Amino acid sequence: MSKSTHTRAGIPLWQKIMAGLVLGVIAGWLLGDHAQWLAPIGELFINAIKMLIVPLVFTSLISGIVSMGDPAKMGRIGGKAVALYLVTTAFAITLGLLAASIFQPGTGVEMQMDNSVSPGEAPSLTDILVGLVPTNPISAMVEGNILQIIVFAIALGVSLVLIGERGQPVIRVIESTAEALYKLTSLIMACAPVGVFALIAVVAGEYGLAVLIPLLKVIGVVYIACILHVLVIYSGLLALVARLNPKRYLTGSLDAIVIAFSSASSAGSLPVSIRCARERLGISQGVAGFVLPVGATINMDGTALYMGVVALFVAQLTGTDLSTADYVMIVLTGTLASIGTAGVPGAGLIMLSIVFAQTNLPLEALGLIAGIDRILDMARTAVNVSGDLMVTTLVGKSEREIDLDIYNGKSVGHTS
Ligand code: ASP
Repeated sequence: MSKSTHTRAGIPLWQKIMAGLVLGVIAGWLLGDHAQWLAPIGELFINAIKMLIVPLVFTSLISGIVSMGDPAKMGRIGGKAVALYLVTTAFAITLGLLAASIFQPGTGVEMQMDNSVSPGEAPSLTDILVGLVPTNPISAMVEGNILQIIVFAIALGVSLVLIGERGQPVIRVIESTAEALYKLTSLIMACAPVGVFALIAVVAGEYGLAVLIPLLKVIGVVYIACILHVLVIYSGLLALVARLNPKRYLTGSLDAIVIAFSSASSAGSLPVSIRCARERLGISQGVAGFVLPVGATINMDGTALYMGVVALFVAQLTGTDLSTADYVMIVLTGTLASIGTAGVPGAGLIMLSIVFAQTNLPLEALGLIAGIDRILDMARTAVNVSGDLMVTTLVGKSEREIDLDIYNGKSVGHTS
């Protein structure tokens, strides 16, 4: 285990973060609306992590490409990652549909549709594809457009490798900047217990039981399916395909999972995921720096799963009969819509409107979900981030870009 994941008192950081999470829920319930006072602390913490995203993605991706030194290998890693991301997402939405058909969260529930909530406009899929290449990399960075930054960083990284010696001065600057940013991630993560406490207290204070009870069944189904997806599908894949101990993956990913859960933003959790991958799971900088940012932008298994559950919930609630073609449509549009979902709070709800429009489910029903969406968002974001880390581990193992001693806790990770 990495030195930097321990605090001076010897209590591992992840245990302190978990304590922050539990105490935050209790404090939120006790404080109710007053928990809002804690909001600036949580915001400060999340802002500090977000501050790292653009420079960290840019520099760690370039350092990774340079250290692998083989553009063809990058292509293969990218291909594997995207294929795994797609397959696991389709699996997730199917699991969501299955869970909702078994537990029937929308049957026997009486609810008024709320016409007043409009979930907003979803971007078209062509726009997303065309927008992959930035016309101006600096504005991509200013806007924090991760996919565009990835495209530019890969292009620049490969070019730096191609010019050989002459690339060295720039490479050295980028590599030491990346190292400094890893260090900064560790410093900010030392404040995570307090940050998570504040973030969770605010959510718990806002969503009293009265708001949650009418929709408790659908919340329960989303949470159960999310937990099963991580514990059964992800752990199973790691054990069977990669022959790795899934328990190490779960404990090694915990920091990132908790940050994702409390912030509801997978893009915002990216610096922490990169840190977990390198320091706890032993994944090389090249694979972690490439596969994780791609995952944080396109891989949303939790969001896809949620779309499956909510679509079926609304169909049950409104007595809509879905045909087999409708189910196939939900899997296809849900998978695509989840890819287009931004890794920010609430984005999945907006993209859900695509699935509803394709399957003729009433858009007004989204208003029902909007009231409790944050609670669902926390679970789905935790799964989104777990999925990114699982695929990164699988790819790292298959490319021999994993340090098994670090993964198995036998040696200390990079102490940035
Ligand atoms: N909040 C999710 C994420 O950041 C996206 C969503 O709303 O489903 O991964």
